[in-house]
Amino acid sequence: MEEVLEQASLARRAHWLVQLRWLAIGFLVGAVFVARRILDIQLHEQALYILAGIILAYNTMLHVALRRTDRRRTEQAGNALHRILILQSTADLFILTGILYFSGGIENPFSFFFMFHMIISSTLLSRMQSYIQATIAVVLFGLLLLLDYTGLVQHYPLRGFAPEGLHTDGRFVLGYWFVFATTVYVVVYLATSIVAQLRKQQARYRNANEQLQQKDHIKNEYVLRVTHDIKSHLAAIKSCLDVVESGLLGPLNEEQTDFVERANHRAEKCMHFISSLLRLTRMRMTGHFDRTCFPFKNLLYDSFAAIEDRAAAKRIAAAYEIDPAIDQVCGSEVLLEDTLTNLLSNAVKYTPDGGKVILRANDRKNEVLVEISDTGIGIPPEEIGDIFNEFYRASNARETVRDGTGLGLSMAREVIEKHGGRIWVESGPEGTTFFLTIPKDSAIS
Ligand code: ADP
Repeated sequence: MEEVLEQASLARRAHWLVQLRWLAIGFLVGAVFVARRILDIQLHEQALYILAGIILAYNTMLHVALRRTDRRRTEQAGNALHRILILQSTADLFILTGILYFSGGIENPFSFFFMFHMIISSTLLSRMQSYIQATIAVVLFGLLLLLDYTGLVQHYPLRGFAPEGLHTDGRFVLGYWFVFATTVYVVVYLATSIVAQLRKQQARYRNANEQLQQKDHIKNEYVLRVTHDIKSHLAAIKSCLDVVESGLLGPLNEEQTDFVERANHRAEKCMHFISSLLRLTRMRMTGHFDRTCFPFKNLLYDSFAAIEDRAAAKRIAAAYEIDPAIDQVCGSEVLLEDTLTNLLSNAVKYTPDGGKVILRANDRKNEVLVEISDTGIGIPPEEIGDIFNEFYRASNARETVRDGTGLGLSMAREVIEKHGGRIWVESGPEGTTFFLTIPKDSAIS
């Protein structure tokens, strides 16, 4: 796994470098054009365009080679990727030296572009390879200055930009090269040190993350076992209470009936809580659920029907606007219905008597957009980011409605995201709207 991850991030960086190079080609062509045609600086235009063509050619080859390694996740592919990175970095150094050669050599301040290469290699390659790249840059640039100085090659001056004859001033050339070389090595030293620190930190985070995942798994197993046990005891208690309440064991006086009813009501709530917790934990542990294709419109009507009585009891005007174009959706019917019912129940629960609740659903190209709006108590802005967290209940909800587990929304988010959809909320003093998108053909992840 580690190997593959490492390879994936290397591949991403190699692609990034290829993208950068497309930009560099554009920059080179543009800079040559502006320098020659607009600023009237004398440089070897033709040779520079040929170099841009060479970069274009090898960047295309690198792009193709990277695509090939992308398809393979083997150790050889990882090594090939490394080789490609070193190759492209070295090729860039040669090309940059060539560009400088045809555009003034020491007279051209673009020699500082070597530093970009040093920083990039330090982030992509090992420390050793970065120093090798630095040495290649120092040697290539030194060779360019030396050949220019000795006149063994033709000098292409940057006429109109820099004073002539700089390349033959021995002291200046040596001093320039010395400063260049020290800057290159210092840049590599600094960049590789920072990168090494970051890599260490990254490894620590990865470790910590793995440990957290392990602990989370243990916690889930524990919760699953405990809730399962509690649920069966609760079910037994509830059926005993049902028998007593029904009068099968003899008539109860008013006070006894009241107490048994209250106990039964509490047991029911506890059962509901335990069931939610059990379902959430199971979903997290197994990570998958049954998937079928079903008419989504019916599911919307059923969810709405489930809360109608509760809304009527609070004199809440509940309504729906369901797009007739909505057809089949593939996913877990049970969990999606549970989720919608839960959001609608919340809307009724957190809306004072006489308010409004509305369910809207619209067919969009590949998904259905569902909106559940109410004119209820709203969610305090500073708490809106927390309400999808497990067991979280906003302060105003705790004050107004005592019953609540804080599990419904965290389950809703888990279900919707597992279907590849999104859930979000907008809320203000005038009420709350929950939005969810459900892909029509969701491959449950
Ligand atoms: P609960 O059992 O508390 O309703 P949920 O997970 O369903 O748990 O919701 C978490 C919290 O989000 C609620 O306690 C409440 O603070 C807030 N909330 C959810 N729906 C609404 C709504 N329609 N209006 C206002 N607040 C809401």
